[in-house]
Amino acid sequence: MSAFICRFAPSPNGRLHLGHAFSALLNADAARAAHGTFLLRIEDIDTTRCRPEYEQAIGEDLAWLGIVPADAPRRQSAHFADYAAALERLERMGLVYPCFESRAEIARKVAEHEARTGRPAPRDPDGAPLYPFSRTDLSDAVRRQRRAAGEPFVLRLDMAAALGHSGGALFWHELDSLSPACASGTPLVAEPAAWGDVVLARRDTPTSYHLSVVVDDAMQSISHVIRGQDLKAATSVHVLLQHLLRLPSPIYHHHRLILDEQGRKLSKSRDSTSLKVLRDQGMSGADVRSMLGLPASVQPTPST
Ligand code: GLU
Repeated sequence: MSAFICRFAPSPNGRLHLGHAFSALLNADAARAAHGTFLLRIEDIDTTRCRPEYEQAIGEDLAWLGIVPADAPRRQSAHFADYAAALERLERMGLVYPCFESRAEIARKVAEHEARTGRPAPRDPDGAPLYPFSRTDLSDAVRRQRRAAGEPFVLRLDMAAALGHSGGALFWHELDSLSPACASGTPLVAEPAAWGDVVLARRDTPTSYHLSVVVDDAMQSISHVIRGQDLKAATSVHVLLQHLLRLPSPIYHHHRLILDEQGRKLSKSRDSTSLKVLRDQGMSGADVRSMLGLPASVQPTPST
């Protein structure tokens, strides 16, 4: 049986809350049950919003929960060269193009479409309007010139061309439950077209969540990605990128989300109660486990 390696991958742009604790504990428990490895990844590509004190707080919160990563964390900001190499490979395949529209121009085009048709513009699974322009609006030569002239740009995946490389339907394996953690899961069809021409890099952030998560999961030899249900739809893009970059696909489990009293997903930006506040109120890591409906402890599954 191949090694079980999973990861918890928070962004240090705020304090962790109960939703993060749930995800981290599910990962750590699954690794323990499977005699596997739990890794920590710091997803800090957005260097304007990520702060060292939040990264330190992640370490303190995990220690309080009784979680000890197997290794030093992989910090994404130290690996921009890996993402650049992946991006270059996609560019060489002719699958990436620079776009010069500002956010305001994109919003204007979407609003125009909605006014003209009286219907909402097409949206991605997260509810954001799909990129309303097209690669054919400008020639590749003009795009190259404008990029060379230093105009602000983002790099997008040419989704139609990328799908042309995928040679038919793409799948991933989804575990409905984590017990037993090493089961192989149900095949789910990936639907990357629903995301349109996704952004792969920006001039000031030379990668994106989609690109770096796929590169890192491969570089850290992740066998199982255990993360929230809110990222399930994005897995379609990840599977496409894995296929294009010839990277292995982990097995996925997208767990339920922890909601607040109003039934909303917890969020750092809405200041959901942080683990630090719970700790300061005198709660223990064991109290958090029981609050989240997790067993008090998990033992390694006896090998047969
Ligand atoms: N950094 C992401 C987050 O904090 C998690 C990404 C992932 O697990 O793939 O939501």
